[in-house]
Amino acid sequence: MTSNRRNFIQSSVIGTAGLGLSIASTTEVNASNLPRAAEPEITVDVDVLVVGGGTAGTIAAIQAGRAGASVLLVERNSQLGGTMTTGGVAFPGLFDAWGKQVIAGIGWELVKECVALDEGQLPNFAKVPQRHWHNQVYINQFLYAILAEEKCADAGVSIAYYEFPAAVIQIDGGWQVDCVGFGTRRRVRCKQIIDCTGGAEVVGLLGLPRLREDERQPGSFLFMLGEAHEPGRNQIHRLYVHGADSTNSRTATEANLTGRKTILNKVRQSGKRLMHLQPETGFRESYRIQGETLITVHDYTSGRVFDDAICYAFYPVDLHTKTGVKPQPLKPGTVPTIPLRALVPKGSRNLMVAGRCVSSDRLANSGLRVQASCMGMGQATGVAAALAAQRGTTPLEVPLGDIHDLLRSHGAIIPSDA
Ligand SMILES: Cc1cc2nc3c(=O)[nH]c(=O)nc-3n(C[C@H](O)[C@H](O)[C@H](O)COP(=O)(O)OP(=O)(O)OC[C@H]3O[C@@H](n4cnc5c(N)ncnc54)[C@H](O)[C@@H]3O)c2cc1C
Repeated sequence: MTSNRRNFIQSSVIGTAGLGLSIASTTEVNASNLPRAAEPEITVDVDVLVVGGGTAGTIAAIQAGRAGASVLLVERNSQLGGTMTTGGVAFPGLFDAWGKQVIAGIGWELVKECVALDEGQLPNFAKVPQRHWHNQVYINQFLYAILAEEKCADAGVSIAYYEFPAAVIQIDGGWQVDCVGFGTRRRVRCKQIIDCTGGAEVVGLLGLPRLREDERQPGSFLFMLGEAHEPGRNQIHRLYVHGADSTNSRTATEANLTGRKTILNKVRQSGKRLMHLQPETGFRESYRIQGETLITVHDYTSGRVFDDAICYAFYPVDLHTKTGVKPQPLKPGTVPTIPLRALVPKGSRNLMVAGRCVSSDRLANSGLRVQASCMGMGQATGVAAALAAQRGTTPLEVPLGDIHDLLRSHGAIIPSDA
């Protein structure tokens, strides 16, 4: 290849349909006629932008779509499900407490369908288990990711993989969000944003206050040595990655390199075959938001029913440390609740979060962060965002009764109904 030829990109244009002819031509593209790099290539207008298609975000997007909103779901990875699928934590819990179901709705619908299609088994929620984790549901992570895509498509949700927001500014009636991906620049104009990135990254981009501990809980790399991993059936091995931090690409890279290196050592030492390895570390903790209210561990362990509760949560206080975890079960009959105001960054409008970044102190968060509660938060924010977009208000101005009614009609369980 001559250096001259290397200096330009060739693009072939084939077909002039009107004439019924097929003509191939070669167009020279050089720096002077490339599209201007500063201009977004794609511009979209939607009611609701959901950032992060993980545990909470998938459910938020489906719910907002089902409620009639136009929705774009931006996910920086290649599939939906987040920690449940890419992280491999494919045992969502807890949908039940003290012998009855307390979280249902769209997350439960997806989990149930996934188990049925995989011919798996659901726990019997009428029975109070001896150990809390007995009632987690084993799901096939691969199937879950595909089913989630199908549900999004059915709800009219557009998905943009490999993209993330690089800049967010407030505009009249909502937001302008510039997203980047490889080969893609997308300008999104939306009325409402739901930040479901795990670590509240959009909230961070906006410079709104977030909370973070100096020392975070370890993350875990999920893998299998020696025996095959049967998705949706068996326990998978977990390796603590101490210091794992999903704050940015550099800290996440470090966690992945550290985890994989340790697993390679295990393979060498054990002489066993590596049968399964998730593509990235599962992160337990990074940023939480400082919301319009903050759930304390006392609120959590006393089962406080907030005035604006939108779903239940149920799990022991479950703080992982360097030496492991000693779950602190809740007292019999206690079922914590999550208020809408804990999903709204303090002082913000037209912005909510759902998932593990819920406004809470560290110990409350160690219980709130589990998947069924993340799904419950996701569904509630999907409803609140869709109603706010329709009415041209901010979510906290939507009457709570309207949010509850719509949630009920989509199968969710509302604490004040109990
Ligand atoms: C090892 C481990 C074990 C656990 N065990 C259990 C358990 O037994 N039972 C249980 O129920 N829960 C368990 N949890 C907790 C639970 O899995 C997580 O807290 C929960 O899944 C978090 O959900 P989320 O929606 O907040 O975040 P995630 O599910 O992590 O989703 C966040 C999504 O956002 C995407 N994203 C991030 N930043 C951006 C960006 N800037 N732009 C676009 N996309 C972005 C990510 O790629 C991801 O898909 C465990 C967690 C870990 C790590």
